Amino acid sequence: MSASDEVYCRLDKRNRIVGVGGAWDRFALANDGGAVTAARVLGTDFLSHVSGEATRSLLDRVLRGARRSSAPVVLPFRCDSPECERHMEMTVQAEPASGILLAYRVLRVVPLPVPLRFVGSGLPRGRMLFRCSTCNRLLRDGRWHEPSSVDVPATPIAVSYGVCHDCRDTVERLLPAA
Ligand SMILES: [Zn+2]
Repeated sequence: MSASDEVYCRLDKRNRIVGVGGAWDRFALANDGGAVTAARVLGTDFLSHVSGEATRSLLDRVLRGARRSSAPVVLPFRCDSPECERHMEMTVQAEPASGILLAYRVLRVVPLPVPLRFVGSGLPRGRMLFRCSTCNRLLRDGRWHEPSSVDVPATPIAVSYGVCHDCRDTVERLLPAA
């Protein structure tokens, strides 16, 4: 996926996916998203493709906020691959009839010094690290660290996903008051 690729996703008022565009299939496949290729997501609930309750509820807030706003909500996030940091941006724009247009854009791709693989389950729970699904940082010893700076014994690294306080605060700042 190059920096010029943009991916669009159009939602109806109930957050059902009614259109996708741009480099959608290439984006989905590059993210192990074989199950979310364009032909298979149309008509489905957008939030059902988001894993993790905390991430789902944050995105739900973003969608609600964007519907109250005349200006688009622009949210930075990370979607790292095992080999690269991918710094991305999501633009959430209200459309007529309470629809939403989502646009995803790659801002910057930075190769990782060592490939990092993550798994959401499969290892004993005590060894799991908490990972923010929005900025991709890892919580270790009470502090948030860039994945590339965490000294891990081996990959894949077992993680459970949530949203860190910084990302929560960012979203609160971006959204119009309820
Ligand atoms: Zn975060």
